[in-house]
Amino acid sequence: MIPQNHVTRDFIPVVDHDKCCRCKRCVMGCGFNALAFENGVVPGPEPCVACGRCVAFCPEDAIKIEANPHAYRPHDAWPVQMRKKVLQQAQTGGVLLAGMGNDRPYGVIWDHLLLDACQVTNPSIDPLREPMELKTYLGRKPEKVEVEAGADGKPQLKTELHPQIELDTPIIFAPMSFGSISLNAQKALAMAAVKCNILWCTGEGGLHEDLREYAHRAIVQCASGRFGVQADYLNAAAGVEIKIGQGAKPGIGGHLPGEKVSAEISETRMVPVGSDCLSPAPHHDIYSIEDLKQLIYAIKETTQYKVPVSVKIAAVHNVAAIASGIVRAGADIVYIDGFRGGTGAAPAVVRDHIGIPIELALAAVDDRLRQEEIRHEASIIAAGSVRCSADVAKAIALGADAVAIGTAALIALGCTVCQQCYTGNCSWGIATQKPELTRRLDPMVRSEMAANLIRAWTEELKEILGAMGVNAIESLRGSRERLRALDVDQTMLEVLGVKYAGQ
Ligand code: SF4
Ligand code: SF4
Ligand code: SF4
Repeated sequence: MIPQNHVTRDFIPVVDHDKCCRCKRCVMGCGFNALAFENGVVPGPEPCVACGRCVAFCPEDAIKIEANPHAYRPHDAWPVQMRKKVLQQAQTGGVLLAGMGNDRPYGVIWDHLLLDACQVTNPSIDPLREPMELKTYLGRKPEKVEVEAGADGKPQLKTELHPQIELDTPIIFAPMSFGSISLNAQKALAMAAVKCNILWCTGEGGLHEDLREYAHRAIVQCASGRFGVQADYLNAAAGVEIKIGQGAKPGIGGHLPGEKVSAEISETRMVPVGSDCLSPAPHHDIYSIEDLKQLIYAIKETTQYKVPVSVKIAAVHNVAAIASGIVRAGADIVYIDGFRGGTGAAPAVVRDHIGIPIELALAAVDDRLRQEEIRHEASIIAAGSVRCSADVAKAIALGADAVAIGTAALIALGCTVCQQCYTGNCSWGIATQKPELTRRLDPMVRSEMAANLIRAWTEELKEILGAMGVNAIESLRGSRERLRALDVDQTMLEVLGVKYAGQ
């Protein structure tokens, strides 16, 4: 018989029994069964994943989580996680799953980019005293705008505009399906999107009836599984997104196990209760740009050309050529998801080793579309490790029209990035469908926190723009001259199209 108990625990809950009032709140709050009560709080049958719930809610500040001092001894070539994975696979013979984004030490390129500021010759602007324009429009733009005299003699627009989505700030919430996250978590994001006049996205799980009132600020997804896709669904939203790929798991499909497919999820996804929801790796009707064009056309026909159609892809090696094809196929928005993008569940080996950073993919795509003189034909959304307002500004300067945030949005909902989303045991009520856990997340409270995050970043963006001496986000868009790089090599400078600091 194969021994199953040799994987060393990473974290140990430690209780100060002098302080502990034995309220058992920590035991009841732990979604991972990592605590038990035997004449006092003791470690439970399952390993602690350091989700932080017990620490946050202990009324006596009596519990803390410590790294296990008896874990494997250090070895540069064989890090602890590598040894644990080998042992787990020797025990199970299976593919190891992971949640959230790639956590390997590849380096974050945003941290090697610095923004410019005005000094002496060009005045900076005080955003508290002067208006700052952050409004952003997503969708295909005309090559030129023509004006003519109207019947009343006043000038009016002659050029017919393609459908646009207006955002108050260039930040939207990344796609997260009902299934990968709880309905309460999705509702909190939907409510926040409405409050801030931005967007949320259904992900591939369909549109729950309770969220229809927020659909006017939603992007609905059409993924390879086609869950929930029908004319009514496509016409309910501000935009439609064809999901080809995801940064955390490029080139592979998705799988929501049958045990997670409750009555509500089954209704939203239009599948039987308890059946596995498998999203194939490819769309089985898309094997070329021409096929993609057909689907874009079908969606535009269904929605009477009233909403923009987005195509979401993972950032991969030839992303620029792929994006060019997508724009030529008629997409109004290209959504690029970098290799640090989050996920509810992905094979760890795929999450950690496939794809490229969003910073390089974004620069390459923007360059290519400009060279081909089709940049105006589609907006670019950049996603996959946008962590703060400075990252937003840097993404805009590299060429994005807007960014999408997933992990940051979930942190606003309470997520501590414990990376255990695939277990379905999220103590914070986010990546779970267990009623005893999902009810912990109050959509009203958390939507206000998510909205606050957007408001805070928006204010910081205004500060950044003011320091740079511009009063509109449009003036920063694609303006790489306002960026400088630090601690990167010549090749990276060339891909980014950015000068080294001091030049
Ligand atoms: S929540 Fe804190 S005080 Fe209550 S049982 Fe746990 S450790 Fe003790
Ligand atoms: S609540 Fe989270 S941090 Fe606390 S013991 Fe459970 S898994 Fe560990
Ligand atoms: S959503 Fe929940 S399970 Fe996933 S990383 Fe965040 S806290 Fe952990």
